[in-house]
Amino acid sequence: MAVVILDTQQRPLRNLRVSVTDRCNLRCSYCMPEPEYVWLPRDDILHFEELERLIDVFTSLGVDKVRLTGGEPLLRRDLPALIRRLASRSAIRDLAMTTNGVLLAPQAESLREAGLHRLTISLDTLRPDRFRSLTRFDELPRVLDGIAVAAPLFPGLKLDTVVIRGVNDDELVDLIEFARGHRAEVRFIEYMDVGGATHWAMPRVLPRSEMLDRLQSHYGPVEPVLEASSAPADRYTLPDGTVFGIISSTTEPFCHSCDRSRLTADGLWYLCLYAAHGTDLRRPLRGGATTEQLAQLVRATWEVRSDRGAEERLASRDRSTLIPVDRLKRDPHLEMHTRGG
Ligand code: SAM
Repeated sequence: MAVVILDTQQRPLRNLRVSVTDRCNLRCSYCMPEPEYVWLPRDDILHFEELERLIDVFTSLGVDKVRLTGGEPLLRRDLPALIRRLASRSAIRDLAMTTNGVLLAPQAESLREAGLHRLTISLDTLRPDRFRSLTRFDELPRVLDGIAVAAPLFPGLKLDTVVIRGVNDDELVDLIEFARGHRAEVRFIEYMDVGGATHWAMPRVLPRSEMLDRLQSHYGPVEPVLEASSAPADRYTLPDGTVFGIISSTTEPFCHSCDRSRLTADGLWYLCLYAAHGTDLRRPLRGGATTEQLAQLVRATWEVRSDRGAEERLASRDRSTLIPVDRLKRDPHLEMHTRGG
């Protein structure tokens, strides 16, 4: 019988996002807008064997979905070797990765061969000048190459777009058309006030309702896809059958069904993107804790989880950026690029 452990809100521990590095080769304005960053000490970064050991602890407690992320996961050397080892574990039903696509084209084949099941590529704009100002790097051509190579290898490819009013909110239709051309599914993500989003402001968020209005006025009626799922995206169909998703974490959070938690590259475990503190799993792991002791720590932590971070943010009155820059510098674990998106 499958193991299920529940938190105080009856949410199962099921979905683990593993950040394999805090380093990134882009500087997206919604994630890493500052001129400089404090990186995790190299010695603290978990080796593959250590990551595997922790992931095995999680799967023994019911996790069956693992997503590799970062930072930029493709910056981690030998990533296919880790994927191969994880893909051989039958307990992991869904092994996915989120990448910015810059380094993808030459690696896509080996990721597929290693056994990666699913892929999500971040793509916020199709315009080279806009890409440069959004990410501070002139890398759109390499990202588009990566998408072209990966799309046939990973059926059901997802393209994630963070939508920012006044920045890329005029590209919703173009992105849907682009995704359709690659048999991919675009997911529009509301701009969130998480971690290092130091330029966030509510007027820059394009709410789900407005995204839908704009798409309906272009395409005609948009119908919700009715499905029971804990996935963050609500999916919709256009009149011609094209499906897209919206992740409305900012204006319509879904904490009630959140079964996700996040492991940083140095082994801290966070139960909510908005959480101020994580559980240090590296210290006991490196201190010789047994698998049973680690499992006991994870279980005990999950069973008292009550986080509803996005809902609490929604309820806060004077909502502005979440964390001041000096605090982010003191604790890089508060950053989205450390926690993994
Ligand atoms: N480097 C990889 C990438 O670009 O996809 C993986 C890590 S990145 C932190 C993962 C995702 O985090 C991005 O695609 C984006 O969707 C999300 N993200 C980061 N900051 C965000 C913000 N302020 N609001 C919404 N999503 C954000």
